[in-house]
Amino acid sequence: MALNLVLFGPPAAGKGTQAKRLVAERGLVQLSTGDMLRAARASGSELGLKVADIMDNGKLVSDDIVIALIEEQLDTQAGAPGFIFDGFPRTIGQAEALDSVLKNRGESVDSVIRLKVEDASILGRIAARFEEQGRKDDNPETFKIRLDAYNKDTAPLLPYYSAQGKLTEVDGMADIETVAASISEVLDRLASPKGQPKQGFFARLFGSK
Ligand code: AMP
Repeated sequence: MALNLVLFGPPAAGKGTQAKRLVAERGLVQLSTGDMLRAARASGSELGLKVADIMDNGKLVSDDIVIALIEEQLDTQAGAPGFIFDGFPRTIGQAEALDSVLKNRGESVDSVIRLKVEDASILGRIAARFEEQGRKDDNPETFKIRLDAYNKDTAPLLPYYSAQGKLTEVDGMADIETVAASISEVLDRLASPKGQPKQGFFARLFGSK
C-alpha cells in the first residue's frame, strides 16, 4: 500500500517546493498535473496543443484530461512508496474520480494537507515568480483568473475532505523550513496513529525509532 497525500492550496502556496522536499527526503513520487501539462506543451503533443490556450488564459483544463494523466502515472509508477498529488484534484469531480481510481487499486487518499496562505502574500509571490520564470499564466491579469478558479472550483474540496476527517491545515505563510517541519509532523502522526509505535509499511517508509 502506497501513501497517498494531497498537497492542497492556491497557486503559489508553495505546494511544488514542499512536494520536491518530500521526494528528496522520503522517496515519494510527486504527481503535479501542472508539470505534466507543461511537459505535454513543451513536447508539442496533440494534448499540449489542446490545453495551451486554456492554460494561458488561467482556466482549468477538463477533468477527463487530468484524470487520465494521473491514472497513467499511477500505472507507470506502480510500486512507488507513495504519491504526492500536487495541483490535483482541483474540482469535486476530480476528487471523486481520484477516490474511485484509488479504490480500484485497494487504496485511498490518506491525508490532505492544506497550505494556508493569504491572498496578498500569494500576489507578492506570483509577481516575483513572473519576474524569475516568465510563466505566461503568472501575469497579474491571468493570475487573478487562476485565483478565482481556485476559490470557485477548488476551495469546495476543503469541506469535502474535512468531512472525511482527512484535512490538516498548515501555516503556509511561515518560511520553507517551518512549513516542511509542520508537514513532517503530520506525516509522522499518520505513520503512528494514536501514538502507537510505527510498524509495517509506514515504519519502513518513515523510519522506526
Ligand atoms: P499549476 O502549475 O498547478 O498552477 O497548473 C497550471 C495550469 O495547468 C492551471 O492554471 C490549469 O490551466 C492547468 N491545470 C493543472 N492542474 C490542473 C487540474 N488538476 N485541473 C485542471 N487544470 C489543471
